[in-house]
Amino acid sequence: MSFAKLVGNQVIKEWIQKAIRQKRIPHSLVFTGQRGVGKQTFALEFAKTLNCKLLDSELNSCDKCVNCQRITTGQFADTRIITPDGQFIKIEQVRSVIEEVYYRPFEGNYRIYIFENAERMREQAANALLKTLEEPPSTSIIILITSSLDSLLPTIQSRTIKLAFSPIPSNTLKNYLDANYTRPEKEQNLLVNLAQGSIGKALSIDITEYLERRKYSLEILEAIVKQKSQKTRLLKLAESLGRKERKEFDLFLETLFLLLSDLSYLQISLDMKIINFDITDYLVTLVNHSSRDLFINLSNSLMALERDLPRNINRQMALEKIFLNL
Ligand SMILES: [Zn+2]
Repeated sequence: MSFAKLVGNQVIKEWIQKAIRQKRIPHSLVFTGQRGVGKQTFALEFAKTLNCKLLDSELNSCDKCVNCQRITTGQFADTRIITPDGQFIKIEQVRSVIEEVYYRPFEGNYRIYIFENAERMREQAANALLKTLEEPPSTSIIILITSSLDSLLPTIQSRTIKLAFSPIPSNTLKNYLDANYTRPEKEQNLLVNLAQGSIGKALSIDITEYLERRKYSLEILEAIVKQKSQKTRLLKLAESLGRKERKEFDLFLETLFLLLSDLSYLQISLDMKIINFDITDYLVTLVNHSSRDLFINLSNSLMALERDLPRNINRQMALEKIFLNL
C-alpha cells in the first residue's frame, strides 16, 4: 500500500503530498469524517511516506524497506497509535506522549503519534496536550482521529489543521472491490450499498452471512405483516432471535433496521434510496400488504429495545411484546 493505492479522498492525498514536497509539514492535525473512510490508513501511510528509505519521486512509500514494514506491523518505535484505555484516552496516556514527543526520532525521520477516537479524550487529558499541539517539535507529528469533530474541545480544534475525509463514492468503492475481490455482480453491488461509503465497512461485511441474516429477518417481517394467522410462528421467531448471542443479535437488529428503512422508502416510492435493491419486488409485496404505519411503529419499538439493551433486558420477552402488539 502506498498513497497512490489508497482509495478515495484524492484531495487530501494530494494536499499531504504537496505539504511534504514543499517541506511545510503540519505538525498538529485532526483527521475527521465518518467511520471507516480510511482515516487510520491515511495516517499510517503518512507515517510511511515520512520515514520510508526508498521513497519514489511521486512520494510513494515503497512498502518494502525496514521502516515501511515496521510501521505496517506496528513495530516502528517512532510511530505510535494511542487508543482509549477502557472508555477514555487517559491523562497518563497523553503524558507518556508528551514525555517522548520532544526527543529526536529513534530510528526514522519523524515521530508520529496517532490518537484514535480522539473525542474520547477527557478535558483534563486534552488540556495536557494543548501546549504540545501549539508548539510541536519539528520532528514530531500528532494526528487526532475522530468521527465526531464537534466533540473535540474548541481549544484543540483551534490549534490543529483539520482534514475532513469524505465517504467513498459508490463507483470508486465498486472499482476497488472488483479489482480485489471476485464476487457475483449482484452481491458486489449489494456490498457497495451496505458499505455506505466506508471502505472499512465493505471489508468487514461477510456478504454470505448478511444474506442469511436478511433471509431470516424477512421471515420475521413477513410473519408480522400476516400477523393474525402467524401468532405461533411469531413467538417462535422471537424466541430464536431473542436467544442469539448479543453480538449476533446486534447484527440482526442492524439488518432489520436496513430492511425497515428500505420499506419506508418504498412506501413513498423512493426506489433510488433502497439498499437491498436485489429484492425490491419482494419488498414491494410486503409494502402492499401492510398498514401504513406498521414499519414505522416496528422501527420505533426496535429502537427503544436497542436503547434498553445495555440494561441486560430479556430480549426474547421484549421481542414477543413488540411482535404481538403491532
Ligand atoms: Zn519504504
